[in-house]
Amino acid sequence: MKNIYIIGVGLIGGSLAIDIKKNNPDMVIHGISRKDATLETALSLNLIDKKATLDDIENADLVIVSIPVDATVKLLPTVLDKISDNGLVVDAGSTKVDICKVVENHPKRRNFLAMHPIAGTEHSGPNAAIPNLFVGKTNIICEVEKTAFKLQEKALKLFADIGMRMRYMNPVAHDKHIAYMSHLSHISSFMLGKTVIDKEKNERDIFDMAGSGFASTVRLAKSSPEMWTPIFKQNKTNVIETLEEYIINLTHFKELMKQDDFDAIFNEMKDTNYIKDILNGMG
Ligand code: NAP
Repeated sequence: MKNIYIIGVGLIGGSLAIDIKKNNPDMVIHGISRKDATLETALSLNLIDKKATLDDIENADLVIVSIPVDATVKLLPTVLDKISDNGLVVDAGSTKVDICKVVENHPKRRNFLAMHPIAGTEHSGPNAAIPNLFVGKTNIICEVEKTAFKLQEKALKLFADIGMRMRYMNPVAHDKHIAYMSHLSHISSFMLGKTVIDKEKNERDIFDMAGSGFASTVRLAKSSPEMWTPIFKQNKTNVIETLEEYIINLTHFKELMKQDDFDAIFNEMKDTNYIKDILNGMG
């Protein structure tokens, strides 16, 4: 692979660009974006070597689409139309059902690989791109059997070389599990932030009391609404299911408080401490 085109040089696209270039200095990283200013920033940060447009995609060995998931669904068929027979298009979207569906009958379906790198921060845009974001992280690959073998092989090696472990899943299972593992945490953080801001908005000094517990729990509430609204829209059914279960747990906790049942509250927390073992096992 020689010519890599990245559509959307933000946190994920930009961070992929840094690590791919570091491992493959001979590769040329081309950036494509809606706004020229974004590409200029990406150039000045050395995330990309050159600016490009969609018309240049015919020269691509690999295209990485890393824009919000609604924009991905709209653009992906056009990108696949333009890719050469020996080129591969990969997306990095946080949902997989709608993205896989929009290209399921595309004549170049074998030139597409659906993936979701489970790595990120609450920051966005080219300035948020950082090296080594993907080291030790999981990359979920969907419908790998639908991608031409020799194309998937090269791309998966590129992603393994920057430190990712591949896991294979169908798009329906991906969207269901990711609703619990990622989407619910973001909603929970956004609504925690809202609850505190609504209550304390007239008492700015109170934020001096905000310790690291508040800061770490509310960190995800700094995430980009442009990226998250289409994710919730595409994964609406699964996200509502997670919210219903979460609300049952919150209501149960409130009822135990009302009943002064602090033994039960202790046990709820003690049982949930098991999360330590689960997370340590992932390290
Ligand atoms: P980001 O930092 O906001 O970058 C996205 C880029 O896409 C922006 O630089 C923007 O460039 C462009 N863009 C925004 N809206 C667009 C639109 N409607 N049409 C075309 N281009 C648009 O976002 P990101 O965090 O890198 O996320 C990119 C993709 O990776 C998303 O599909 C997301 O679901 C997925 N993902 C995110 C994370 C995470 O934690 N952030 C993790 C894994 C996967 P312009 O300034 O030129 O508009």
